[in-house]
Amino acid sequence: MLFTVNIMYNKNNLSKEVCFVKGIGPKKAKILEKLNIYTLADVLETYPRVYEDRTILKYINQLEDGEKTSICAIVKTTPVLSHIKKGMDITKCIAYDETGYVEIIYFNNKYKAAQIRCNEEYIFYGKIQISAGRVTMISPSHEKCLNSSKSGRIVPIYPLTAGITQNDFERLSCAALECEILEKDDPIPSYIRDKYKMPSMKEAIFWIHRPQNMKQVESAQKRIIFEELFLLCCGLSQIKKCRQKTSGIIFKDTNIESFWKQFEFKPTNAQIRAVNDCIRDISCGISMNRLLQGDVGSGKTLVAAALCLIASKNGYQSAVMAPTEILAIQHEKEFLSFFKNLGVKIVLLTGSMSVKNKREVIEKIKTGCAQIIIGTHALIQKDVEFFKLGMVIADEQHRFGVNQRIRLIEKGSNPHTLVMSATPIPRTLALIMYGDLDISIIDEMPPNRKPVETYVVGEKMRRRVITFMEKQVRLKGQVYVVCPIIEQGETELKSAEEYAKSLKNMLPHRNIEILHGKMKSLKKEEIMHDFVIGKIDILVSTTVIEVGVNVPNASLMVVEDANRFGLSQLHQLRGRVGRGNKKSYCILFGSDKGEAAKQRLEIFAQTNDGFEIAKADLAQRGPGDFFGNRQHGLPVIKNIDIMSNINEMEKAKYESDKLIEKNPELSEYKELKKRIYKMFETVNFKFN
Ligand code: ADP
Ligand code: MG
Repeated sequence: MLFTVNIMYNKNNLSKEVCFVKGIGPKKAKILEKLNIYTLADVLETYPRVYEDRTILKYINQLEDGEKTSICAIVKTTPVLSHIKKGMDITKCIAYDETGYVEIIYFNNKYKAAQIRCNEEYIFYGKIQISAGRVTMISPSHEKCLNSSKSGRIVPIYPLTAGITQNDFERLSCAALECEILEKDDPIPSYIRDKYKMPSMKEAIFWIHRPQNMKQVESAQKRIIFEELFLLCCGLSQIKKCRQKTSGIIFKDTNIESFWKQFEFKPTNAQIRAVNDCIRDISCGISMNRLLQGDVGSGKTLVAAALCLIASKNGYQSAVMAPTEILAIQHEKEFLSFFKNLGVKIVLLTGSMSVKNKREVIEKIKTGCAQIIIGTHALIQKDVEFFKLGMVIADEQHRFGVNQRIRLIEKGSNPHTLVMSATPIPRTLALIMYGDLDISIIDEMPPNRKPVETYVVGEKMRRRVITFMEKQVRLKGQVYVVCPIIEQGETELKSAEEYAKSLKNMLPHRNIEILHGKMKSLKKEEIMHDFVIGKIDILVSTTVIEVGVNVPNASLMVVEDANRFGLSQLHQLRGRVGRGNKKSYCILFGSDKGEAAKQRLEIFAQTNDGFEIAKADLAQRGPGDFFGNRQHGLPVIKNIDIMSNINEMEKAKYESDKLIEKNPELSEYKELKKRIYKMFETVNFKFN
C-alpha cells in the first residue's frame, strides 16, 4: 500500500527482491511468497502482529502472575533436560537476582540446555507463573546481558510461516528501512497531516517497525488506517463525480400502480419512499447508483421487482444478481409470482445449469426475448451479452468487495444500478463503503410480523432444548443449529461435525445434515436445496447458512456458543427463522459464559430491531468486531484491523469530502492521485 507506485524509481530500491537480502536467499524467498512478500516494499507493508515491550526490566520480587516481562538474572544451576512423558521433554534451571529466585522452564526445546550457561547473566523475556510462592518463567527468550540487541526495546513480532523466523524478519526490515523514503511521495496532503499531528509516511514506517514506545506504534497505525480509508474515500468520490457527468438512460414511464394492486398487502411507506428515490434517479438523465439498505424481511425484493417492471415497460432488460445459486433460484420463484399477470419474460442463469440450457438462456438474453434475468454473478461474465441492459440489481451487496461492485457496474453501458444490503451497518461506515452511491433506507417492517421469540440458556437446559427441537420437527417445522467452528480444535467450541454426530444418536429417526464452509460449493448447494424442499429436518452448520435464504418452514434456530458471535451477526442468523406463518424461536446457548456475556445476549433477546442491535453491538465491541469474520469489502491492511478506530474513519471521510469538493480533479495532489489509481487498478474505471 504505502509504496507500490513510487518504489521503482528509488535508487536504494524498495523494489529489490527479498532473495537478495543477506541471509535470505531463494529458498526463504519462496516461502515468503506465501505471506505475499516479494520485495522490500512488501516487507515494509507487512506490519507487526503484536509488540513485546521489553523496555522495562523488573526485579524478581516485583513479578506478577500472568504478566509477560523482562528480567535480568544470573543462572545458578546448569539446565537439565528431562523426559516427562511420551512427546514431552522439559528443560529446567534456576536463576536469581538480588531480590530472589526464579525457575526457568522450556518445553520440548532440547537446544536450550546447550545455549544457557551456568553463572552467566541473561535477560529473559517471557511469561510469569506464580503458584504457591514459586516463581516460574515459561519458555522465555534469552539474551546475554552485554550485547543485548532486543532487550531494552520494543520488539515487533511479525506474522510467520514455517521456515521463516523473527530473526529473518529482523534482517528483512533492516534492509528495507535502509531504503530512501521521500517526503514528497507521501500521499496525504501536508495540511491534513499537520492538522491532526499525523506522522509523515517516513516516520510512520519507522514507528511501526522500530518503535521507541507504544505511543509511536499507535500513532503510526492510526495514520495507516487513515491513509487507506482516505484513499478509498477520495477514489469513490471521484468515481461518483465522474458518473454524474455522464448521461444516463431516461425511463419515462414510471407508473407501477398495477404492480402494487396485485398484492393483498399494501407497500409500507418506507418501500414507497425507496421506490420514489429510485424513480427520481432513473428519470433525471443521470445513471442511478443507489444502495438500498433494509433489515432482513423489510421487503427489499419488492422494491427491486418494481424497478425491473419499470425497466421492461421502457423497453430495457434488468439483471438481478444474487450471491448464491440458492438465492438466485428463490428470487426467480418470487419474481415469477410477482409478474405472472404482467406479461414479462423472466429467465434464470446459474453456473450449474446444463450447457444446452445455458446456451438457450444466453440466446434469449442476447435477442431481448428475456426481460428480467436472474442469476449469480455468472451472468455478468464475458459470454453473456445483453440486448438492452438498463437496470442492474445486486442483492446482499456486502458480500462483494468495493472493486467487484464497480467492475459490475462497468459491465453494462451505463445501466441504472441498485445494490441491496441487509446489514444494518452504522452510518459512518456506510458512507465510506458506499461513497460512490446514494443511499435509501427501509426503516419500517411490514405490519403483523411476529417477532422471533428468543431465549438465552445454559448447559443445564440442553436436554430440554433437544426435546424442543424434536417437538418442532414433529410439528412439521425445521431446525437450524449453528456452531462457530467446524473441527474439534484446542478450544471447547462445539464443532459442527461432532455435534451432528451426537445429535444423530439422540434423534436417530430424524434427518440431520451438516453444512460448512469447507464443503465443495456444489455439495453446499445440494444440502441447502434439500433443506429448502423440506427433506432435511435439522441442519447443523457453521455460519455459512446463506444470508437471505428463505425457508418459511424453519421455525427454530439454536445457536451454540452464542457469546462468540457479534450481535449483528446473530441478528442475521435469527432472520432465517420467522419467515412463514409458524411461530418461531431462537435459542442461544451461552448464559453460563459469564455475567457480561449473558447480559449482552439478553439485550439481543429482547429486541428484533436490527438497527437497535447494531448500535448495541458497536457500543460493546467496537467497529473492529462488528462484521465478525465476514467479508466487509473494505481494503485489507496486513495485521492492522482497519475498523479498529472509528475516529480515523470519520476523519478520513470528512477530509476526503472536503478535498474533493475543493479540488475534484486532485490536480495538485499527484502522489495521492497515483495511489488512488493504483487502488482501483483492477477496475475499468476511467478517472479524469
Ligand atoms: P428482504 O428485505 O429481507 O429481502 P423480502 O423482500 O424477502 O425481505 O420480504 C420478506 C417477506 O415480506 C416476503 O414474504 C414479502 O412477500 C413480504 N412483504 C414484503 N413487503 C410487504 C408489505 N408491504 N406488507 C406485507 N408483506 C410484505
Ligand atoms: Mg432479500
